[in-house]
Amino acid sequence: MRLLEHRAKAVFEAAGIRVPEGRVVETGPSALEAGLEIGLPVAVKALVPVGGRGKAGGVAVVETDQELKEAADSILGSTIDGYPVESVLIEAAVDIEQELYLGVTMDREARRPVVMASGRGGVDIETVAAEDPTAIAREHVDPAFGLHPYQARAAAYGASIPRSAAQKVATVLSSLYSIWADRDATDAEINPLILRPDGELIAADAVLNLDDDALFRQSELAEQAAPASDVLEARATAAGLEYVRLSGHVGVVGNGAGLVMTTLDLIEAAGGSPANFLDVGGGADAKRVAEALSVVFDDPNVGSVLINIFGGITRGDEVAAGINEALAGFDELPVPVVVRLAGTEAEAGRAALTDTVESVVSLEAAVDRAVKLAEVSG
Ligand code: GDP
Ligand code: MN
Repeated sequence: MRLLEHRAKAVFEAAGIRVPEGRVVETGPSALEAGLEIGLPVAVKALVPVGGRGKAGGVAVVETDQELKEAADSILGSTIDGYPVESVLIEAAVDIEQELYLGVTMDREARRPVVMASGRGGVDIETVAAEDPTAIAREHVDPAFGLHPYQARAAAYGASIPRSAAQKVATVLSSLYSIWADRDATDAEINPLILRPDGELIAADAVLNLDDDALFRQSELAEQAAPASDVLEARATAAGLEYVRLSGHVGVVGNGAGLVMTTLDLIEAAGGSPANFLDVGGGADAKRVAEALSVVFDDPNVGSVLINIFGGITRGDEVAAGINEALAGFDELPVPVVVRLAGTEAEAGRAALTDTVESVVSLEAAVDRAVKLAEVSG
C-alpha cells in the first residue's frame, strides 16, 4: 500500500525530517488561497499514489498567482497513470543547491534491508543505477541491530554529497531507516532530498510503501490507504472481474487466473506487452464477457485484444454466443479482437463466432497475431 505524499510527509516530519510547509486542496480557488498563505513561489503537486509525476506533468513550481491558478486547474482533473487527480499539494518551493536521493528497501538477494544514498537525486534513481552504479552508496543492515550510525555516515560520505552536508544526511538516513522498520514499510524514499544553499536539508518528496501483510499492526496508517481509484479497476471490481491494469498494449481476457497468467507470459515471449490481467472466471457468459471487453476497450493503451477461453464446464459454443452478444453492441470494434477458443465444443464455438473477430486455433499463433495487431495500431 502506497501512502499519498502528504501522508508520507506527515510520518517523516513526525520522525524529525524537515518537509516544506504545505496544504492539500481540491479546487483552483483554494489552491490560490493556500499558495498566498504559504507565500509564492510554491510547488503544485498531484496527489496520486504513483511516482514519476514530474515527468507526467503532475508537478509544477510556480512564481505568480496566474501561474498557480493555471497549474492547479490543469493538474486537478487530469489523469496520471490511470489515477484521476482529485487533490493537489500546495507546498513552499525549496531553493536548490543540490538534489539528493535517500532510500531504504529490502535487498532480497542479500536477504537484508539496504539503505542507499546518492548525490544524484531528483531524477529516476533506476536511471542513475544503470548509468553510474558508483553514484549510489549502499549499506546492508542487520535488522537485529538496525542501522549503525557509522553505516549511515559511510553511505552519506560515499555518495558524492558535499562533505559539509554529509553528517546531516546521515542523520536523515537514520531516521528514514527507523521509519522503514517501525512502519513495516517495503520502501521508504526521499527523492529529492533538497540541499538548500544555506545547508539545510528538506524532503521535497516522500515515498512510503507499506507491506500489505503487516497492515493489521499499522492500523493508523492503514486507514489512510489511498483507495484503488483507478477508474477501470473500480469498474471491473464492481462487475466482479479480477482485473489488474498493466502498462502494455495487448488487452487480455481469459477464464481462470492460470490461463490468463500463461497468456501474459506468452505475449511477453512473443515480444509484446500485456495491457492488463483480466480473468472473467468460470461461466464466461455474455454479460461478463461484455463487461470485460468494455473495460479493456476503454483503456487507451490497448491496441488489440486477445480473448483466450478454455471451455470446460462452460461450453465453447456458449462462450462464442457470449462474445457475439458482447460485440453486437459495436458498429465497429475500437481495436481488433483475436479469439482463441479451446476445450469443450470449441469447434462449434469457432464456427459460430462473428466474423468481426479473428478466430485463431493455436494459442501461440493467436498470441503472435494479437501482438502484431497491437504494434500496427499502437
Ligand atoms: P515525482 O516526479 O512524482 O517523484 O515528484 P517530485 O516531488 O519528486 O517532483 C519532481 C521534481 O520536481 C523533483 O525532482 C524536483 O526537481 C522538482 N521539485 C519538486 N518539488 C520542488 C520544490 O519544492 N522546489 C523546487 N524548486 N523543485 C521541486
Ligand atoms: Mn520524486
